[in-house]
Amino acid sequence: MPTSHRPLRWALIGASTIAGQWMVGAIRAVGDEVVAVVSGDLTRARDFARQHGIAHALDADAGLSGLGVDAVYISSTNEKHEAQTLYAAAQGWHVLCEKPLATSLDAARRMVAACRSAGVVLGTNHHLRHNSAHRQMRDVVRAGTLGRLVAARVHHAVYLPVHLQGWRLTDQAAGGGVVLDIAVHNADSLAFVLGEYPTEVTAMVSNTGMAQGMEDHALSLWRFASGLIATTHQGFSTPHARTGLEIHGTDGSLHGEGVVHQAPGGRLSLKRADGERDLPLDAHNLYERCLGEFHKAVRGEPHDMATGESGLRSLAVALAVLDSARLGRSVAVSAA
Ligand code: NDP
Repeated sequence: MPTSHRPLRWALIGASTIAGQWMVGAIRAVGDEVVAVVSGDLTRARDFARQHGIAHALDADAGLSGLGVDAVYISSTNEKHEAQTLYAAAQGWHVLCEKPLATSLDAARRMVAACRSAGVVLGTNHHLRHNSAHRQMRDVVRAGTLGRLVAARVHHAVYLPVHLQGWRLTDQAAGGGVVLDIAVHNADSLAFVLGEYPTEVTAMVSNTGMAQGMEDHALSLWRFASGLIATTHQGFSTPHARTGLEIHGTDGSLHGEGVVHQAPGGRLSLKRADGERDLPLDAHNLYERCLGEFHKAVRGEPHDMATGESGLRSLAVALAVLDSARLGRSVAVSAA
C-alpha cells in the first residue's frame, strides 16, 4: 500500500517479535525507511539488523542522533516504553508506541504530555481498529442501523504462541498478564466502534497454570455512559476458542467472527428483522493501515490512528479490570 506522503525514516526501539514479524514489512510497504534498530543487547541488534537488512544496529537510544531519524517505533517490554518515549520526544522524533502504552497511568500521562509539549505525534499501536470489520462496524453503528445499542461481546481468548511464552507469563514489572496484554485492545476496539470507553468495570481473573503469579484469563463486565453493557473475555490458554466481536441493538446485531486478529480476514454479518447478510471485508494489512493513519497525524490531517490519549484510556480500562478483580467489586474507570 505505498502512499504519496513524504517518507519517514524510522528507528526501531526493541528487537522484538512484533517488529520483525509485522512492523518492518509494514513500514517499508508504506514507502518509509527503517534506518536503525536499538536493542539492550548489541549482538541481538546486529542479528536483527542483518536478518531484516537494516543499516544500523545499536545498543543505546543515544546512538540514533545524527542518523536523520524522523520517528521511532517502540516495541520493547512495556515498562521501558515511558523512558524511550520521553527520550524520543526530547529529540523531536514522532513516536509509535506499542500497547499497553505503559504499566501505570502516571507513566502514560507523562508520555502524552512530553509528546504534546515537544510537538510530536504519539500513536499507540492498537492495530485492531484498522481491521476492515471494525471500520464497518463503526460505520453501521454511526448510521443508527442497530437502533438503540444494548450490549457488546468481545471474545478475545487465544493461545499464546510458545515462542512468546516468556515475560508475559512471568514478569509483572514488565507488564505481564493477559489483562494488560489484551484488555487494552478490547477497550480500544469498543471505543473505536462505539465512540465511548467504559465508565465502570467488574472483573474476575484466573490462573489456568500457564502464567506464574499472575492472571492468564479474565472475564469482565463493562458499563458505558450510554447505558450499553459489554462482556469481554481475554485469555492465553485456549487454543480452540473462536475470537469475535459482537454489537447488539434493538433493531439489529453485528456479528464479527475471527476479526480480532493480527491478520485481515474473518467474517462480519448484519442481522435484522429482514434477514442476515454478510458485509464484505477488505484484506488490507492492519499495521500498514495504522502507519498510513500515523502519516496523516504527522501531516496534521484527520486520522483514525489510536493516539497517545487512546492508549492512556485503554490502559485505564485494563488497570480498572485488575483493580476490580483484586478488590472483588466494581471499579470506576478514570484516565483523568
Ligand atoms: P518480544 O518478547 O518478542 O520482545 C520484547 C523485548 O524482549 C524486545 O524488545 C527485546 O529486548 C527482548 N527480546 C526479544 N527476543 C529476545 C530473545 N530471543 N532473547 C532475549 N530478549 C529478547 O515481545 P513482543 O514482540 O511480543 O512484544 C513487544 C511489545 O509489542 C509489547 O509491548 C507487546 O505488548 C506489544 N505487542 C503488540 C502487538 C500488536 O499487535 N499491537 C502484538 C504483539 C506484541 P530489546 O529491547 O533489548 O531488544
